[in-house]
Formats: sequence, structure tokens, C-alpha cells
Amino acid sequence: MLLNMTDLLKVANEHSFAVPAFNIGTGMILNGVIETCEKLKAPVILAIHPWELEFNGDAFLQMVLERAHRTKLPVCIHLDHSEWGPITRAIRAGFTSVMIDASSKSFEDNIALTKQVVEYAHAHGVVVEAELGTLAGIEDEVVVESGKEAYTRPEEVEEFVTKTGCDSLAIAIGTSHGAYKFTAAQCTRNADGILVPPPLRFDVLEECMKRLPNFPIVLHGSSSVPQEFVKMVNQYGGNMPDAVGIPEEQLRKAAELAVCKINIDSDIRLAMTGNIRKYFAEHPDHFDPRQYLKPARQAVKDMVAHKIQNVLGSNGKA
Ligand SMILES: [Zn+2]
Repeated sequence: MLLNMTDLLKVANEHSFAVPAFNIGTGMILNGVIETCEKLKAPVILAIHPWELEFNGDAFLQMVLERAHRTKLPVCIHLDHSEWGPITRAIRAGFTSVMIDASSKSFEDNIALTKQVVEYAHAHGVVVEAELGTLAGIEDEVVVESGKEAYTRPEEVEEFVTKTGCDSLAIAIGTSHGAYKFTAAQCTRNADGILVPPPLRFDVLEECMKRLPNFPIVLHGSSSVPQEFVKMVNQYGGNMPDAVGIPEEQLRKAAELAVCKINIDSDIRLAMTGNIRKYFAEHPDHFDPRQYLKPARQAVKDMVAHKIQNVLGSNGKA
């Protein structure tokens, strides 16, 4: 059943878990996510980025909506990182939640634009996620260079939420988009030569929690970039040097605190790609998608189940 995000995140906040927002880039990911969440009785946010909408077209959106209405799971369809035009179209199309990302603008402009979106969305029964602080990586067609990101300033969160009326807030505490989150200069290396990123700024999160009691906090860029799949990609012809993510134990800790929604995208893509590369290397004569997509489909399900059970703690919460 299709819900709005406020209801989902309220339960997550009260019960110290986080709802995963998986980016739905293809029909195979959609089915893998829904089937696994149904099996684990885990509520889920189906996040669709404007680029994913553009890639898949309108018929795909109808399929996602139809699937969300048909399942008994609490589901929310959320427009990821967007701006005014796509947001109004998404609301008309039936999304129950949207994100306005004006985090690259000044504090005042971020407030003004977010407030405008909140007024429009609330008038249509849709909830709004906003963002304060900037993550490194790719956000809304703006590539923020590593080292130029800015942590959320806790002293701004209260004013921002009060003035905009947003329903949840994405903050920057050191997560980052994509599989190449950090430069070598920002990290140390472990004994195996793998980059170890700087730890998340839990002091910033806790300060935000103090100023916004019981308010749902969101973490973007929270893929962990599991090294087994980076290794698989590299072993079978890929080249992903120094791809690392956020350690899962740090995300688990965040989920137990006020973080109610954790965005995961790259880890699913990485597991699919590793398995497809492996399949092609082992079966160079095969060309049937039903063959080479089979392990990829299983990889989606395994990754989704792993995140729900071992990182977010959302299994059995539907
Ligand atoms: Zn994001």
C-alpha cells in the first residue's frame, strides 16, 4: 500500500531503525526490492531520481505505481534530488514524497525554494525532504569535488526546518554519493591497501538531534561499496581503483539514532555489475539476457536483504 513518508519515518524513529530508500533504476531492481521486502516484511522507500525517470520513461513510472499499490507492504514512492519543474510533474503523477535539493544554494535561497516546494507539495498531500549541507560526489548535476563538501551546521537546522516546514532533513555528516567517495588524501590505508575513509561526524548528528528532537533525519550517499564486489569487478575486466564506501557499522549506529531513512544505490549496482562481468568471463559464448541477468537478479535480492537485516534493522517492521 502506498503511504506518505511521514508515517513511515515516524514508526522508524520510534522504533530505532531506518527505512531503506533504494534507487529503482530498472524493472529488475524494482522487482528484486519489492519481492525481498515482502519476504522480510520490511517497509521500503522506492526512490526514483529524475535521471532514472528520463531513462525509463512514463510507462515505467506507471509500473512502479501499480506495483506499489498492489503490495501489502508500506511503500512510499519518492522523487530523489530534484527541483521545481520535475517535482510538480512527479506530484501530479502520483509520487507520495519528493526531495527538493537546494543545498548548493545560499542558506536563504535554500529556505525560499524549499518553502515554495513544501507549500505546493503539502497542498497536494505530498511530503518533502530537504537538504542542508553538501555531500561530495554527484548531486543534482552539480559535481561537488572531494574536499569541497560542507558538513551541516547544527546551529542552522532549527531555523531551516521552522521556516521551510519540510518533513525530513538530509544532513551532511561525511557520507558521499557514488563508489568513489573519497580521495586517497582524505583517507588512510589498511594493511590490505584498501582506503579507510574518515569516520562519520556523529557529533554533528547528535547536535542536530538535540536541536530537532524526534525529527526524521536522512542520510544520502550511504553505500558501503563492499570490497568483495569491487574485487569481483576488477577480477573480471573492470577497473575501479580505490572505490570505498561508508562502513556498515557506522550506518547501523546512525539508524539506531535519529536517522530514519538511508539511501542506498551504488551497492546494488556494484553487486549486479560484478556478477554480470563474472558471468560473461565464465561463459564467453552466452548472449541470452535470461542467462546473464539471473545472477544479477539474485545479487539485487541478496544485497537488499543484507542491508535490511544487518544495517537498517527494518526487517519485520512492516
Ligand atoms: Zn542523494
